[in-house]
Amino acid sequence: MIIVLRPDCTPTDITTIENRVREFGYEPRTIHGVERVVIAAIGDEREHRTLTSLISSAQVEAVIPVQKRFKLASREVQPHDSVIQVGSETIGNGHFMTIAGPCSVESRDQLFQVARDVKQAGLSVLRGGAYKPRTSPYDFQGLGQQALELLAEAKQEFGLAIVTEIISTEHLAEVAKVADVLQVGARNCQNYHLLASIADAGRVVLLKRGMATKLEEWLSAAEYLLVHGCSDVILCERGIRTFETSTRNTLDLNSVIVAKQETHLPVIIDPSHAAGDSRYVLALARAGIAAGADGLILETHPNPDEAWSDAAQQLPSATFADCMTHLRPYVELARQLHD
Ligand code: PEP
Ligand code: MN
Repeated sequence: MIIVLRPDCTPTDITTIENRVREFGYEPRTIHGVERVVIAAIGDEREHRTLTSLISSAQVEAVIPVQKRFKLASREVQPHDSVIQVGSETIGNGHFMTIAGPCSVESRDQLFQVARDVKQAGLSVLRGGAYKPRTSPYDFQGLGQQALELLAEAKQEFGLAIVTEIISTEHLAEVAKVADVLQVGARNCQNYHLLASIADAGRVVLLKRGMATKLEEWLSAAEYLLVHGCSDVILCERGIRTFETSTRNTLDLNSVIVAKQETHLPVIIDPSHAAGDSRYVLALARAGIAAGADGLILETHPNPDEAWSDAAQQLPSATFADCMTHLRPYVELARQLHD
């Protein structure tokens, strides 16, 4: 941390702040500039108490961090890309993974039809929400346990790995029983208690970025998982809130590019929730592939018009294989450029 003192600081003020810095466990190095005194606090900020509270001291003008608060997620600790196994496939370090399925599990017929179509399209990972975090309490909340049973049946029948959302620790045992991947949704990205509680379930975690979560906060949320024992974390950019209303959210490809620089964890995009409109999903998927994403998660439904949640953004599963045929050359080019 760099502590910038106010211009009118006396030598006693400087000593006071130096002592506070020592109390926090850092070594102060004081630099006397022409107009200002600046104290560099030497020590690993990730292992000491944060000095940001010094800003409340009358003598301090600014406290500027020089280190990031995430460590295990950073490339400083692990320079090479993580490769994560999901069912029979891997993701990361040039291995591209596409996950697809309905927003919510609605019935056996619906789920099995999508599973068939997703498999037919060459994919091996099926998504489907059992517990849904809905903005309105009057909206469909998911079939819960019944949906988990259907997902277990689909897993058995089609040999697909399962991604489903965990919204509460109370469901962890039942969800982890069927899920290969625990999805933490945008609304729970910064639910640190949930993250810490699911980390040692022995499952891959798909951590969606919150709709107003800064990159550093998103990576710090991943750090919670890593520090509590989950090494298999996949990050997912699903669009953020901006002033723009022509799409449901704004796909932040900047964050994908920067995240890939900062972390070794795979980063995928969710163009379905970013667009909120099935017409834009494939174009955003192409953009994500070009930006260096390691995978996609797509919503698809046998009859999108009648979907119980997120109807406007789901691709018709009957033509889902065509979508994958369309995307395949882009994925292939990205793979060649990576190698
Ligand atoms: C979902 O995947 O259906 C979902 C609720 O996503 P998000 O958390 O990104 O809104
Ligand atoms: Mn959805």
